Amino acid sequence: MTAKDSSWLDLYQTLLDAWGPQHWWPADSPFEVMVGAILTQNTAWSNVEKAIGRLRQAQALTVSAVLKARDAELEEWLRPAGYFRVKAKRLRAFCQFLEEQGVAEQPQLLGLDLETLSLRALLLGVHGVGEETADSILLYALGRSIMVVDAYTRRIGSRLGWVGASIGYKDLQGVIEASLPTKSGVPLRKEFHALLVSLGKEHCRPRNPRCHRCPVQAFCRYGQGVSDQGRVRAD
Ligand code: SF4
Repeated sequence: MTAKDSSWLDLYQTLLDAWGPQHWWPADSPFEVMVGAILTQNTAWSNVEKAIGRLRQAQALTVSAVLKARDAELEEWLRPAGYFRVKAKRLRAFCQFLEEQGVAEQPQLLGLDLETLSLRALLLGVHGVGEETADSILLYALGRSIMVVDAYTRRIGSRLGWVGASIGYKDLQGVIEASLPTKSGVPLRKEFHALLVSLGKEHCRPRNPRCHRCPVQAFCRYGQGVSDQGRVRAD
């Protein structure tokens, strides 16, 4: 298969065949997914886990507990996630939003009567919720069929030769969505995003990508220009 005749769906299948299910999103409840999606901005997941662990230990992993907490208390719980003051404000704003929507007790019921794109627009109106966060919440917490894209996805797509390196979030999402089936939409999209994150972390790094052991090298334009020692060949 070459870069020209392969697709995002082939990429998904190749990664799944190589690595199997990634068991994402690691969380015990839809609300925990929402909290993780807010806290994971600009930090490693291991730091998010520490912050969520602190919330759990303080029995504060509920909407009402977050809203009742004092600013200093909430910030201290979130400290391991970095930018903890900013994230405390964002988490509080999100919990206020859930309360206003009448789903504080059952956040998984958010927007049940709304189409996915209407719910997405509603989420984007909440303080601190950007496109990737909104889509992560839609897909992993609320089971909506929508592809999450990020910097890994953009870098991989660009190196494969399928999209430009500066493509915007919505355009990249649209290109991928156009090549994915709607059937089995949610499980496939959950798995695909997780596999792309693994590919971005393990192989397709910003510098010195590990192409020689990458499962998709056979149809990657960048990978095809790389020698077995991992150096870009001079054409
Ligand atoms: S072959 Fe190299 S450039 Fe292509 S996806 Fe794999 S690691 Fe990235």
